[in-house]
Amino acid sequence: MASQLRSHVVFHLTGRPDESASAAVPAGLRPALLAPYRNLDAIRHDFPVVFAAGEGEYVVALSAAVDGALRAVAPAGTAGEGTRKRALQVERDIRHSVMSGATGSLRALWDAAVDRMQPSAQPDAYRRDMARVRDALAVDGEVAGCDAALAARFVRHAWVIVQREKARVARDHIDRLVLRLENILRADYARSPAALTATRLEESFGVAHRELFDFAAMARLLHTSQPRGGLPPVRRKRIEESLAALRAQTFFGPRDALAAAQFDDFTFDSTGAALDAFLRRLPDMVALHKALQAAELEVEGLYAAEVHDPFFAGMDEQSLTIEDLQSFPDFLVCTSSGAAGSNAAVTEALSSGVPLKVLVQLDDLLEQAVAGRARFAFGLRGANLATAAMSLGDAFVLQSPVSNLLQARDAVQRGLRFAGPTLLSVYSGPPAAQATVPTYLAAAAALQSRAFPAFCYDPAAGSDMASRFSLVGNPQPGRDWPVEPLDYADTDLQSITEEVAFTFVDFALCDTRCAGHFRVVPRADWGDGLVPASAWLEHPPADPSLVVPSVAAVDDADLLCRLVIDDQLMRAALRCRETWHRLQELAGIRDSRLERALAQERKAWDEARAREAVAAPVPAAVAGPAVEVAVEAAPLAAAAEPARNPDEAYIETIRCSSCNECTLAAPKMFAYNDDKQAYIKDLKAGTYRQLIEAAESCQVSVIHPGKPWDPNEPGLEELIERAKPFL
Ligand code: SF4
Repeated sequence: MASQLRSHVVFHLTGRPDESASAAVPAGLRPALLAPYRNLDAIRHDFPVVFAAGEGEYVVALSAAVDGALRAVAPAGTAGEGTRKRALQVERDIRHSVMSGATGSLRALWDAAVDRMQPSAQPDAYRRDMARVRDALAVDGEVAGCDAALAARFVRHAWVIVQREKARVARDHIDRLVLRLENILRADYARSPAALTATRLEESFGVAHRELFDFAAMARLLHTSQPRGGLPPVRRKRIEESLAALRAQTFFGPRDALAAAQFDDFTFDSTGAALDAFLRRLPDMVALHKALQAAELEVEGLYAAEVHDPFFAGMDEQSLTIEDLQSFPDFLVCTSSGAAGSNAAVTEALSSGVPLKVLVQLDDLLEQAVAGRARFAFGLRGANLATAAMSLGDAFVLQSPVSNLLQARDAVQRGLRFAGPTLLSVYSGPPAAQATVPTYLAAAAALQSRAFPAFCYDPAAGSDMASRFSLVGNPQPGRDWPVEPLDYADTDLQSITEEVAFTFVDFALCDTRCAGHFRVVPRADWGDGLVPASAWLEHPPADPSLVVPSVAAVDDADLLCRLVIDDQLMRAALRCRETWHRLQELAGIRDSRLERALAQERKAWDEARAREAVAAPVPAAVAGPAVEVAVEAAPLAAAAEPARNPDEAYIETIRCSSCNECTLAAPKMFAYNDDKQAYIKDLKAGTYRQLIEAAESCQVSVIHPGKPWDPNEPGLEELIERAKPFL
């Protein structure tokens, strides 16, 4: 064994570096697959987002809001080209300023960016042009970047919208019942002796005609002709009590004053505080629920004392069902996972039958053991919490890193509308001091690497696991690790494209505390014996001294380097993959029993073939070459993968982040496959201009437009120029 390889093997097996054979990981290294995302503010991605204040989607990506405005004021075509270009520059400036800490509404940030970018030549025309785009923005509201505070802001915004909807419905219901109960009492009073006195009759007439009537005579007449009866005192009392309870309720304010602050009394920072508040308010909930039910019966004339009196008398704090509680404001808890026992408290609260809505934020999937070395409790606390909540059966559970929240916005709102307890478990990215990449990338890396997969368990979606559980949002969910092409130049400056898996090891590389689990391998040692981590994980070597796992990384100058990984981290990666396999089984993507049966069948078949071969040996002259051809076939097949023709349009589908940009820009040209990743469905169903605009909008630059196919399309010269960066 070469001495260099031996020292890498020693590091891999023991975690103890040989300073003469490898170097410590320098600061700033990041996974090679994250190299294209170095200037995040220059890339149109899901963030920042706008918390929409009006109707429609409650949260939208800034880029989607700008695209919508541009479709309205500068539709595709050469005429609006300048406006689009300037608006996208303003958008980029907003993205940059939000990443630097700026806050405010979309319109305010837009105006501030326009002020900054205003050219010295023709400033008024520029401002008018950008004001047109601003006025065409379909949404306005606070703009938020992907940072540690985002998860709580996001969930609270979604929760307030749900509470407003519920409050509107409840308020309408209460107002309608109050009006109808008042009408019953008013009608009864109108027939009562008190209402038929001469004085009351005179008061009820207009001043202009009072002298025309003899109210004393009218009172005598009405007293004798009016049917007697009216409300029995018991019923009147019931109605008055219901009315008093409806008027005194404090859960829903006036319909025209449903401000977010109205719901402050229902937000908490611990499940214990929320449960205490719930128990304090429970008697009032019972009283209001009783009043609503009794009022409904009264206004419909269906109250039967012999049936309903004992029913209402027996109604107590145990009587309210989850469905009954659904019409009351929800109790929202925003907390973090970390304090001792916090997960146990959350699980207990979710199982208490109280429909709490709980956001649990995690900011650490790795735990510090000693300086420079992490203890890989990756996602265990978070994953255990979400899995434990799922095992309760009747709780809605959503797990997602913060980078994926926009894509999961419908699931977030479904969870907040769910009639029962809800857990939203969100990885909010590591503290900035520990991360080698921005929060958005670190959180996205957790999703990509299966360290914190996204999943949703919705008990309302059906009665079986197939209906309830979903792994939507995870890239390439059928694989152990997502695979993406990595482009780099070799030592001869030749362009190389390699298919690289993004594994748990890549995620660990985003955390400075993991630096001690890697060593830089000198370029001269990049030969045999160094295998990609994904290959090592796929087939851990029987003899660990022959090969060591490695991962590709880039430094601050985007120079490629390879790192050897210690065994502790590789074992953590294996555990991560096992956790992912369990989720795949829950989602029906994988069936280990079926796989085992298939493997047994395959083995039996191979053995039978072997026995047949022994019984009737094939002549060596025939068998020899056939085996050789079979052995050679695999690499040849891989090598036969045709090189892409740069003149033909294509999408690197496996890298698609499902952002909808291309499918919105040209819905007939692009479509999604079963993994919700875009492909070109029908190139000729759109124009070359649409293709170029889709390539420019694509957040991960995976659309390669090739050459135009219609020589008569207008503006081709300019479009070909714009296509160049994407070829
Ligand atoms: S290919 Fe389309 S859907 Fe996929 S990331 Fe690019 S623009 Fe978005």
